Amino acid sequence: MKVCVIGSGYVGLVAGACFADTGCTVRCADIDERKIAMLKQNDLPIYEPGLQDIVERNQEDGRLTFTTDVGAAIRESEIVFIAVGTPPDEDGSADLSHVLAVAATIADNLNGYKVVVNKSTVPVGTADLVANTIASRTTGDFAVVSNPEFLKEGAAVNDFLKPDRIIVGTDDDRARKLMERLYAPYQRTSNRIYFMDVRSAEMTKYAANAMLATRISFMNQVARLCEEVGADVTMVRKGIGSDPRIGNKFLFPGVGFGGSCFPKDLRALVSIGEEYGQEMSILKAVVDVNRNQKMRLVERVVEHFGEDLTGKTFAVWGLAFKPGTDDMREAPSITIINALLERGATVRGTDPVAMETAHVHFEDRITWVEDDYETLEGADALLVVTEWPEFRNPDFQRVRELLKAPIVFDGRNLYEPDTMKDLGFVHYSIGRPAPELPTV
Ligand code: NAD
Repeated sequence: MKVCVIGSGYVGLVAGACFADTGCTVRCADIDERKIAMLKQNDLPIYEPGLQDIVERNQEDGRLTFTTDVGAAIRESEIVFIAVGTPPDEDGSADLSHVLAVAATIADNLNGYKVVVNKSTVPVGTADLVANTIASRTTGDFAVVSNPEFLKEGAAVNDFLKPDRIIVGTDDDRARKLMERLYAPYQRTSNRIYFMDVRSAEMTKYAANAMLATRISFMNQVARLCEEVGADVTMVRKGIGSDPRIGNKFLFPGVGFGGSCFPKDLRALVSIGEEYGQEMSILKAVVDVNRNQKMRLVERVVEHFGEDLTGKTFAVWGLAFKPGTDDMREAPSITIINALLERGATVRGTDPVAMETAHVHFEDRITWVEDDYETLEGADALLVVTEWPEFRNPDFQRVRELLKAPIVFDGRNLYEPDTMKDLGFVHYSIGRPAPELPTV
């Protein structure tokens, strides 16, 4: 099958590489010349486990090619994916300018029937907008399909290769058959494709992200209450997660969610609600709780050290918005570090892969340290912000020796309070009462 994917970011690159890996001839197109030049050299602009190998192998075998000539890529393909960004506009609604620009380019290069597949996350009704944009420029034959993407950054390749579900919104039979063929390799053991109408497919993506974000904010709010009433949110999480109606996934409290999807998609859904006169009050609360939660660790730091942090140094482990990725978009580390700096603190930061992407946010305002332990040298406390696996079981003896005082603000509940107490740490975590301070 001849496929082109327009937009070679997290979604487009993973989708394009994975389709090529099943034998499709894939053209990945992007207007970013630097990105395409890098990709041609097998130099990936993003970090995503397993992706390097797939890109290299398929590029060498000639099934995967990269180009800035978007028009040519469209003309050579029967299935055209749109995977460009849909960032929030000032009012929170999704900015569709990139999607519609691509629709116009598709119209201008339509040289036979094509299935135009929208993979970007877009408001309900966008498929119609795309179809109208194309139809206003050409009388050519095409179908617009909605095929939202559910991959998780940090596990994107695995998610794409082993999807829980593949949502395809279409009312066109020819398009349906082509989509069935394209996705056949991903559902050999069981049928994972859900065909539905286009609007339901578009809504499914937003509703899924909104539900997941709601679970996180719910648990963060419960965690706040646990801190006050003297309960341990970890016990509460296990207790409620054992109910199959609730399930044990996505119940971890922390320093709030970030990333390129949840914050933007929630704002977009609230905005869609406003457009249709339907107040999305739950989602507004989810956003508010998340905004406050990003400050929770800083509040704890202030409780301990006071509002003025001049002369204090903090080591920060983890900058990316979650483990497994170098994505810094809306990362809680940005809020936390800026709040520490505003109060006069010095920050020493480290991250296994996000040092480069984090640099634009903090530049020379923080001290960059490659080695986790070196970050601790001369620091008054350690803040754990991203739950990278290597932070889970450090050499606590060394951590104690390197820190000025054994104080850990654990934003991801990586460590057990009793163990930390036995090891002599003052350990602040999420959803548990503040630790007793040693008497001087
Ligand atoms: P991204 O910013 O990483 O990549 C988008 C790419 O599109 C960029 O490389 C950009 O140069 C390119 N582009 C913009 N306009 C273009 C045009 N006119 N022609 C060709 N290329 C163009 O974005 P992303 O994270 O891959 O997200 C893409 C879409 O997928 C968004 O709607 C997002 O909400 C959705 N999505 C993202 C994820 C995720 O985890 N990142 C998961 C599911 C869905």
